[in-house]
Amino acid sequence: MNEPQHHRGVAIMLTNVGIPEDNTVFPYRKAGERDLDNMRAIFVHGFGFPLLNQSYYNTNVPVRRWNHKWADAKRQYGDTRPNQAPCCISCLVRNSDFRNVDTVLLYISTHGVQSKGELKLQFLSEYADEDTMVPIQEVVDLLSDRSCPTLKGKQRIVILQACRADAAYQGMAVVNSSRP
Ligand SMILES: [Zn+2]
Repeated sequence: MNEPQHHRGVAIMLTNVGIPEDNTVFPYRKAGERDLDNMRAIFVHGFGFPLLNQSYYNTNVPVRRWNHKWADAKRQYGDTRPNQAPCCISCLVRNSDFRNVDTVLLYISTHGVQSKGELKLQFLSEYADEDTMVPIQEVVDLLSDRSCPTLKGKQRIVILQACRADAAYQGMAVVNSSRP
């Protein structure tokens, strides 16, 4: 009785598009608006993966809502979370129980920058001087065994579409199914 439902997979998806006409910090990515719809059509409606962050942050995610460690401790932020919501997407994922899923998909569409051989993903900022560039390693590590023990032995898929401001189009996909 009350056996938790088994899912082939669960998805965490987010897209950062910015705000039209405002290119000061996060250049507007009009095409990014369609990304989430397209990926949802495939994984949520096609494969039946529930969206873990369905009613949480999934578009224009402030960097501290990706991971609270990026919040500036000296600042007072207004709390805009939905009721009872986790403090950030990283906490949402780390506190999830994946025992009844086979696969976890993490999809992020946003701007990227390459610096000293390291690719970083840009999130939204609430203050102009915030560091909004998150190293890809942090993104991949979120699905590690250490971060999510109930994912041990399961398949993880990370798809990153990282446009770069100084290039016409750069797409990239990282598929990682065996990282410990
Ligand atoms: Zn958090």
